[in-house]
Amino acid sequence: MGLEKFVEIENQRWLCPVCGGMLCVHRNFCLNCKKIKMIQENSTMKSLE
Ligand SMILES: [Zn+2]
Repeated sequence: MGLEKFVEIENQRWLCPVCGGMLCVHRNFCLNCKKIKMIQENSTMKSLE
């Protein structure tokens, strides 16, 4: 089975769409260009308020 493939996909979730750098998982922004990652969880959380 492709454990490496799974890890690869997981890692891509945290790649910056602007510079391709690794995003900080716990802060949701790029350490390279300081762009804030637009996370889909935001809309879900707001609807629960
Ligand atoms: Zn970036």
